[in-house]
Amino acid sequence: MTAPRAAYLHIPFCQRRCFYCDFAVVPLGDHADGANSGSIAAYLPLLQAEIAASPNPAPLSTVYIGGGTPSLLTPRQMEGVLDGLRQRFGFAPGAEITLEMDPASFDRPRLEGMLALGINRVSLGGQSFDDGVLERLGRRHRRQDLLQAAGWLRQALAAGDLASWSLDLIQGLPEQDLSHWRQQLRQALELEPPHLSVYDLIVEPGTVFERLQQRGQLPLPDPDLGADLMDLTGEQLRSAGYGRYEISNYARPGHASRHNRVYWSGAGWWGFGLGATSAPYGQRLARPRTREAYAAWLQTRAASQPAGRPPFDEWLMVGLRRREGVNLERLARAAGLSTADCTSLHGWMALWRERGLLLVEGRRWRLADPQGLALSNAVLRELLAWWDAHQPQEVHLAESPIASSP
Ligand code: SF4
Repeated sequence: MTAPRAAYLHIPFCQRRCFYCDFAVVPLGDHADGANSGSIAAYLPLLQAEIAASPNPAPLSTVYIGGGTPSLLTPRQMEGVLDGLRQRFGFAPGAEITLEMDPASFDRPRLEGMLALGINRVSLGGQSFDDGVLERLGRRHRRQDLLQAAGWLRQALAAGDLASWSLDLIQGLPEQDLSHWRQQLRQALELEPPHLSVYDLIVEPGTVFERLQQRGQLPLPDPDLGADLMDLTGEQLRSAGYGRYEISNYARPGHASRHNRVYWSGAGWWGFGLGATSAPYGQRLARPRTREAYAAWLQTRAASQPAGRPPFDEWLMVGLRRREGVNLERLARAAGLSTADCTSLHGWMALWRERGLLLVEGRRWRLADPQGLALSNAVLRELLAWWDAHQPQEVHLAESPIASSP
């Protein structure tokens, strides 16, 4: 197999932890920044050491620097990180280098400094244009910060200093109704982001939102309203010229994220940093989520843990969510399913197709848009239950049935 050409770097620092977030994050306080934080200064050499020790380097085509809030780093600190990658791997011509940036965590000179380093794509964590909602989410920024940051990105795009940018929004928030969400989408479209990521709110274990939900203080939209919100998103963005290339991701022509496609294609990627997951050569590896454990893991490499499940279920899930779908026969064969189990899986999929939730074109299966995408969690949950009951003991996947053509 060829060496991965994609890398994810995790910068785990945020000023505060948002109420819905269960990422591997180290909150540093509202005034913390790469320029004044000893925690950030202490972390970067560990990250550099892991990059430098990476085996089998090949030039990278995509890099995604996520977190956390990577825009807390100064351009000088980011330069050191990129130099580490450049020295170990090199960058392929035209490499897509994405930086996650949160409104209110950077100013215009910092953005310009980042772009001067070769970062050519920015993912802006806007989430909402409603100050009340941002407050209830535990976000630090406000609508005005978001508008200002988006304005800088638009100018950089127009000047040719930036190849693309994306805006993140969250739908299905407490007390959200269709009218509120329509307003949010309208404000997002006014900013003309070339790419939009629209995520459903998920209440994760251990978060403030989970505690509120347990106390009955988190009035989330019911499933019918949740499906209507998703339909509205699809309609509004489609009519504004965005293609839905993955369940949560919409892009104008030429602006789909190449790095995102790596995750969903089944091709491998490197991962670096506390809490990051890598998957080179089909081997998933989740790094420890605390600074101490990550530092110890770097020392010994013994505390590394496989992420658990073999990739059949993951490839099935990501493949069904993509417009290109997944070649089911190839996937089942590669996973070592018996002929009887392949027949059983096909029968099961055919039932969902009859209900209008799955489509098959050639040999490639995918969730129907919009019915299947709206009920994707239910479909995928049952699929994974089927897999749990049928998976062989040993699984060896040598090639990606998602990336290959039929
Ligand atoms: S800014 Fe992002 S990574 Fe940081 S706590 Fe909030 S949601 Fe999590």
